[in-house]
Amino acid sequence: MESKKLLLSSLPKVDKILSDERIKGLNFSRSIVLDSIRTVLDDYREGIINDNIVKVEYENIIEKIIKTVYLKQRNHLRRVINATGTILHTNLGRAVLSKDAINAVLEVSSRYNNLEYDLDKGERGSRYSHVEDIICKVTGAEAAMVVNNNAAAVMLVLSTLAKNKEVIVSRGQLVEIGGSFRIPAVMEQSGAKLVEVGTTNKTHLYDYENAINENTALLLKVHQSNFKILGFTKEVSLEELVELGRRYQIPVFEDIGSGVLIDLSKYGLSYEPTVQDSIKKGADIVTFSGDKLLGGPQAGIIVGRRDLIEKMKKNQLTRALRIDKMTLAALEATFRLYLDEEKAIKEIPALNMMTMDINTIQKKAKKLFNLLKQRLKDKVEISIKQDVSQFGGGSMPLETIPTFVVLLKPKHRKVKDVEYILRQQDIPIIVRIYKEQIIMDVRTIFDDEFKIIAETFERIL
Ligand SMILES: *Cc1c(COP(=O)(O)O)cnc(C)c1O
Repeated sequence: MESKKLLLSSLPKVDKILSDERIKGLNFSRSIVLDSIRTVLDDYREGIINDNIVKVEYENIIEKIIKTVYLKQRNHLRRVINATGTILHTNLGRAVLSKDAINAVLEVSSRYNNLEYDLDKGERGSRYSHVEDIICKVTGAEAAMVVNNNAAAVMLVLSTLAKNKEVIVSRGQLVEIGGSFRIPAVMEQSGAKLVEVGTTNKTHLYDYENAINENTALLLKVHQSNFKILGFTKEVSLEELVELGRRYQIPVFEDIGSGVLIDLSKYGLSYEPTVQDSIKKGADIVTFSGDKLLGGPQAGIIVGRRDLIEKMKKNQLTRALRIDKMTLAALEATFRLYLDEEKAIKEIPALNMMTMDINTIQKKAKKLFNLLKQRLKDKVEISIKQDVSQFGGGSMPLETIPTFVVLLKPKHRKVKDVEYILRQQDIPIIVRIYKEQIIMDVRTIFDDEFKIIAETFERIL
């Protein structure tokens, strides 16, 4: 008891710390410095009371304060190294932007730009004009517009075309899209009335037809992007739905979710319906995400019939869902890459990672293995093995792609502790743990990150 009191009273006073040359030399605002001093002293007090600290060393306190100042100053949203192998990791920011997209953002946002200025006419222009042509060219659609994300796109379509009216949708397609956002809830917010037809596993064309009445505004098809129903199933194809819609003069709206623009089966992946397919098959409106398989910024893209899209542009909701200049810049640059498929595959990181051939991956794994071996010597057991990567982002849930991973088992530290420390770095490294080993899938690790990983492990082990 006495010794605790003694320890507590031996903690340096704030004034004394503030007058320390090293603290004075910190080039940060006084409030951050003061805040850091209090944080560290509070930690010490708590440590002393809980018997975790039995000695007060002035030098250590100063060191901790300096570290805390830097930590408080650093951005909360920062880059991380994704060693999980999940390409469109929703928690890790989904798609990584291409160089072209990043340069476009930088250029457009660091100076004034023609966001809503028509350079030919010298008068006010539309922010959507920058991307409409290129999206139409790539997708084959007649018209296009963009909003903040695909959930917003779905909402805008429904609010514009089906407010206070009925939308027919199959029970097998009422999906939850993550973060507990559900399609039916989004739809209700739009003011459209959902008319569910069929059953979870089977919906027939006559189910849709029987539900049509004078209040029906849309036939909706939601792509089952993040789950699959297997076995005894029946879904109505887009073609059948389009035929039905034409007969009753009701537009067909497909929420395709992932929005892939390249036939990935050419690269040994399973076929995922492309946006171009849906347009060709006659869907009146198609919506998809910008940051899933498209590999661009977060955005919701709406393509289809011009008369319907013109109505959406005039909807008051559009203002609330509108896309910002940085996103537009990144989106336009991303779409431009699709004019040349080979270029898109090479330069859009998500596509590049998805289609990376197994030999390249094996080489990458060996490179990381050698680097770690060199630096860590006998502090770890390390090996390479075959494994599988995932698409993530609610795209292609059943599809896995063969990959190579580096496995690492620290000899003197707990795997869980190491994993935690990896997360606390200036550039956090996000890994998987399996059977008391750290697993790093090299598919999602950029080549220039290998060195950072090796140095980090060397520092912490
Ligand atoms: C992902 C997804 C959405 C939501 O898209 P966000 O861009 O994340 O808002 C909506 N519908 C489907 C079918 C999806 O897969």
